[in-house]
Amino acid sequence: MNSIDEKLQPILTDVIRRNAGEPEFHQAVHEVLESLGRVVAKHPHYLDQALIERICEPERQIIFRIPWTDDAGQVQINRGFRVQFNSALGPYKGGMRFHPSVNVGIIKFLGFEQTFKNALTGMPIGGGKGGSDFDPKGRSDAEIMRFCQSLMTELHRHLGEQTDVPAGDIGVGGREIGYMFGQYKRLNNRFEAGVFTGKALVYGGSRARTEATGYGNTYFVESMLKTNGTDFDGKTVVVSGSGNVAIYSIEKVQSFGGKVIACSDSSGYVLDENGIDLALLKDVKIQRRERISEYARRRGQGAHFIACDKGTIWDVPCDVAMPSATQNELSGKDARMLVKNGVIAVGEGANMPSTPDAVKVFRTAGVLFAPGKAANAGGVATSALEMQQNASRDSWSFEQTETRLASIMRGIHDTCYQTADDYGAPGDYVLGANIAGFVRVAESMRMLGVI
Ligand code: GLU
Repeated sequence: MNSIDEKLQPILTDVIRRNAGEPEFHQAVHEVLESLGRVVAKHPHYLDQALIERICEPERQIIFRIPWTDDAGQVQINRGFRVQFNSALGPYKGGMRFHPSVNVGIIKFLGFEQTFKNALTGMPIGGGKGGSDFDPKGRSDAEIMRFCQSLMTELHRHLGEQTDVPAGDIGVGGREIGYMFGQYKRLNNRFEAGVFTGKALVYGGSRARTEATGYGNTYFVESMLKTNGTDFDGKTVVVSGSGNVAIYSIEKVQSFGGKVIACSDSSGYVLDENGIDLALLKDVKIQRRERISEYARRRGQGAHFIACDKGTIWDVPCDVAMPSATQNELSGKDARMLVKNGVIAVGEGANMPSTPDAVKVFRTAGVLFAPGKAANAGGVATSALEMQQNASRDSWSFEQTETRLASIMRGIHDTCYQTADDYGAPGDYVLGANIAGFVRVAESMRMLGVI
């Protein structure tokens, strides 16, 4: 990692001391503080140490027990989290993640990132994140429902459409959101549609929400390429992951004329020289919830499955890389391989998928690099559009929603680009995103007083 301004170092030291054993959170804070050196040099009044300290401290952290009964009649216990990070710009907003790796440090890093990401969208939403160490893999539908209901039996008292509005993330899709919202509605005796986003269309969801993160990342990368006199047409693209973010990135990249040749899941990756067959991929991963190796088996000639102990997806030469699986999935070594193979642009579909070492490699090599907090903001931006539709009891067309999404993504791109330029670092989207996000949150906090 790069060193940070000596005036900001005590803040990081304090964050590390107060949040021991939470490396992902330290990493996320370090990255933002690293970018702020230029802000304090240009506008010394921003070196309000207490204000920056407050930004690094969640407003509220809720940790709770989730007891539920499995199909065999055994009582299982999981741990639930909701970190309400910052509400200076609006109600806490951010997804719920169900994955065995979830702990308070992971949720805290995600909530911190979410605060700046949400600020970058320009919409009135604060930052939060939640989840559980529950592993949904192999669980029956009835078990998922009982788990979601038990989680919400505790969490409901901390939510509200003006207070905290969750959505999905890894392991949480339409089905889980339905069960959680259903339990919330039952406990509160209120149909409060705007308390959850990512809902199915039939009970108040938004068109284009499922596609939004993947489409948004693609729009962001397209803007970055255009600013540099090129576009997706004819480019070879590698997208890691095979969840909603990856699948809808692939769909949009293909519509822009790019050729996606590889995608992955936690078991390994598929390389398809003829270009990914999207209908087949959707059937394998969305309809049947199978492993990615099934894609290669059914696709036949030209498609190969490479297990994760035999290599990484980042060995595949490409013009554009879109890491869309999970945090720290792309190492410095992977980045060096991508640079060696001629990558020109990277768009982060996941949250913090590149390690600090990898980010440094890309920036040093002059690769166009879109950090997740800017590039993957399309999902939460469309969640804010869902909240707007709920508030006005309206439902927009797919086209209307996607048009808004596209213009929000272009806006985020231009804000990051312009901010980097203003602070003497043209083309540095990491710096642009961190500074623009920080300034918006800090401005609002200053106006609201010490609270
Ligand atoms: N989980 C998504 C994210 O990381 C979406 C959050 C939301 O829609 O509230 O931004």
